[in-house]
Amino acid sequence: MARVRLNIVKVTGVSTPTRPFKENEDWLGSGPDMVVVLGGCGAGDVVDRQVDQHCVHGLAWYVRTLGTALLRSGADPATPLPDVLATAVAETASAHQGRCDLRHPETPAATVVSLRQNRETVEYLILSDSMLVVDDGSEEPIVLTDDRAARLSIDDYGDAEYGSAKFTEIAGRRAEQISRMRNRPDGFPIAASDPRAAYRAVAGQLSRSQARRAILASDGATRLVEPFGQLTWLGLLNLAESHGPEEVVSRTREVERSDPMAVRWRRDRVHDDATLAFCQF
Ligand SMILES: [Zn+2]
Repeated sequence: MARVRLNIVKVTGVSTPTRPFKENEDWLGSGPDMVVVLGGCGAGDVVDRQVDQHCVHGLAWYVRTLGTALLRSGADPATPLPDVLATAVAETASAHQGRCDLRHPETPAATVVSLRQNRETVEYLILSDSMLVVDDGSEEPIVLTDDRAARLSIDDYGDAEYGSAKFTEIAGRRAEQISRMRNRPDGFPIAASDPRAAYRAVAGQLSRSQARRAILASDGATRLVEPFGQLTWLGLLNLAESHGPEEVVSRTREVERSDPMAVRWRRDRVHDDATLAFCQF
């Protein structure tokens, strides 16, 4: 049967590391009908280096390898997105070539948000705390995320000052607590080395007519809405459309710089990798 290609009209995107010259642990890619944004899950600036002890490849390699595998596997529209992700996770696990400890709780992992346009529908899949915002023409866009990681009960920073010894200690503990809960039945699913996580993703579909514009983003690129409260979700869509995804990131950096000690908005990192794809259908 002949396959009709119905391309997403336009995809523009930006992916920036926390600081210039630092390796980007997010990834953004698109094919004719599919867009993927991955957010590499480091344990924070304090404990990032620990990944090297269990995987010789590192997080930036992981997101690149998983991202390209996702686009390849997603090229067949007959394969549902959870199967696409499961295949990509399995392929990436073999790409470590037996050199790394994939059962270690801190094996490289990533949040996933992907969107694929088919003949009649727009399919989506979200795993862990990335965001999908879809303008369906109504007053409030459809906002989809997977907040299972955010709902875990883990240590709080309390009154620890950003960057202090106490803060660093709590950050290390938080990172350890979160990584221990990865892909556990009582924890939260994330793309790492176990393909079964793909079947616990938030996945579904919208009708083609529902999707007018969409944003796929790692959580570092939606800070203007949450937690900074500078824009609504509709405002974020409008800014990405009128000034481009780069402007979203540049305004995010501006607000982050206005709160350099993370006092007004408590956060693990003052700056975070920020990746955003804007799609126009
Ligand atoms: Zn490895």
